Parts: sequence; structure tokens; C-alpha cells
Amino acid sequence: MTEPTEQRDAESLEDSPVTSHSLEIKIAGEKVQFTLTVPSGPATWENILPFMRALVKVSSDISQEYFTTQGKPISCKAGCGICCRQRVPIAEFEAHRLRRLVESMPEPRRSEIIARFQAAEDRVREAGDTVLFDDRQPMSLKEMAERAGNYFKLMIPCPFLENESCSIYDERPLKCREYLVTSPAVNCSDPEVLPVVGLPQPLAVYLTTLFLDEESRGPGIRWVPLNQLMSWTDLHVPEPPSRTGSELLLEFMSKLVRPST
Ligand code: SF4
Repeated sequence: MTEPTEQRDAESLEDSPVTSHSLEIKIAGEKVQFTLTVPSGPATWENILPFMRALVKVSSDISQEYFTTQGKPISCKAGCGICCRQRVPIAEFEAHRLRRLVESMPEPRRSEIIARFQAAEDRVREAGDTVLFDDRQPMSLKEMAERAGNYFKLMIPCPFLENESCSIYDERPLKCREYLVTSPAVNCSDPEVLPVVGLPQPLAVYLTTLFLDEESRGPGIRWVPLNQLMSWTDLHVPEPPSRTGSELLLEFMSKLVRPST
């Protein structure tokens, strides 16, 4: 990370003082340059989100390019929304952002989306304990995987899925951006029987978000099931900004997960 420079950036951060950073990050052996501006004063993880999205994009592009040359191209394509029936985990700051997005939608669209979330939650409650997930309740990874599998069998479409495509594509969560497969698309419809091979990513950006704020909030991962977006945000208010944008960026970079590929 280079020395930060402070300036005013009226367009991106509403005339608040911002600090610019230039970063060079090695991703799967390639050096990639990034420049970003963050608030010089109190900031939230949402201020780092554009950078997180940029990292996912570069990480995916590098991986796709490599695996295509290895004869394993991405099989995901427009109009295939099977994966949008999984229980998608999102970061807490993404949940608050998506809730604001829903609230900003014009009527009757806003009510339609809220009704879909309600219907999805009703189906989960009807299905009972084998699919329910409480993010505050300790659970083994095995149990989490079993419940995720049971949830998938319900084939509940994400409330944002329309005509098998994402209706909030530019705002889709980090996890949705990272999830790409190289196995035949048909395999995704029955992953217990047919193998589904995900695209290995040199960076695990969504996974990194699970470990943010551990020092201030204590150990333990925090995430929100996308299908519970409305009920979760009804009960939780956004964390107030307490650190500068540069401090948040430093924490994110220090925790950035790099799975071995
Ligand atoms: S947010 Fe979009 S990409 Fe993600 S699960 Fe929903 S419809 Fe699919």
C-alpha cells in the first residue's frame, strides 16, 4: 500500500474529505494495481465495498482465464438461475445496503419484493428445524452443510430472481459474484448426485468479510442468509462508523483470505 494522500472528492463521497490509496496486489502471481478513495473520517464497511467488488472481479477474471486454457471454461450463463435457490450468505453490511435498496424501490415493485421475502421465510419456517439457521447459534460445519443441502431441496428462488436472472445484478452480493462453476450446468440441479465443481478463486473476498471487526466484537463469524434479509434488518441496526476508511482498509487487507489453488 502506498502513502495515502488526502483530498476532497465531492462526487463520490458527498464533499467529505477522502483519502486516496494506491495498492499493488499480487493475485495468482500477477501484480494488479488498484486505486481507491475512502473517507478520511469515520467510515463503514460499505465504503470499502467497491474495492471488495473490484477484487472479486479481478480474482474471477484471472481464474477464468487460467481454467479456460486448461479446458475447463465457466458453464454459468444468462438464464440459468439454479444457484439462486441456494441459501446465499451475505455480510451484515451487505444486508443493510440491500434493505435500503428494497426500500428505495418504487411501488408496487417494493411491495412485490417484500412479499417474496415473506413467502420465502414462510416456506423455511414450515420446513422446520432441518433447514432453519440461526446465525447466533453455534453449529458444526457438518450441520450447516446438511441444513444448506436441505434448504436447496426446497428450491426457493431468491426474491431478486426474475426470469432466471438477477434483477439487482449491479448490487448482487459478493458471494453471488464469486460463485461460478466449471462443471456442466445440468449438474447444479442435483448436486447430491452430480458433481458440482466451483471455480477456484485466488482470493476469497466474501470469506474475508466473516472475520471483520473480530477485535471489537469478539470472535465468531457473522453472516446473514439472504432469504432472511428483511427479518434480520428489522432486528438489527447498522453499526455506527467508528474508524477511518484507511483503518478499515488496513484491517481488510490484513485479513484477506488467499485460498491455495
Ligand atoms: S442476489 Fe441475484 S445473483 Fe444472488 S442469489 Fe439473488 S438473484 Fe441470484
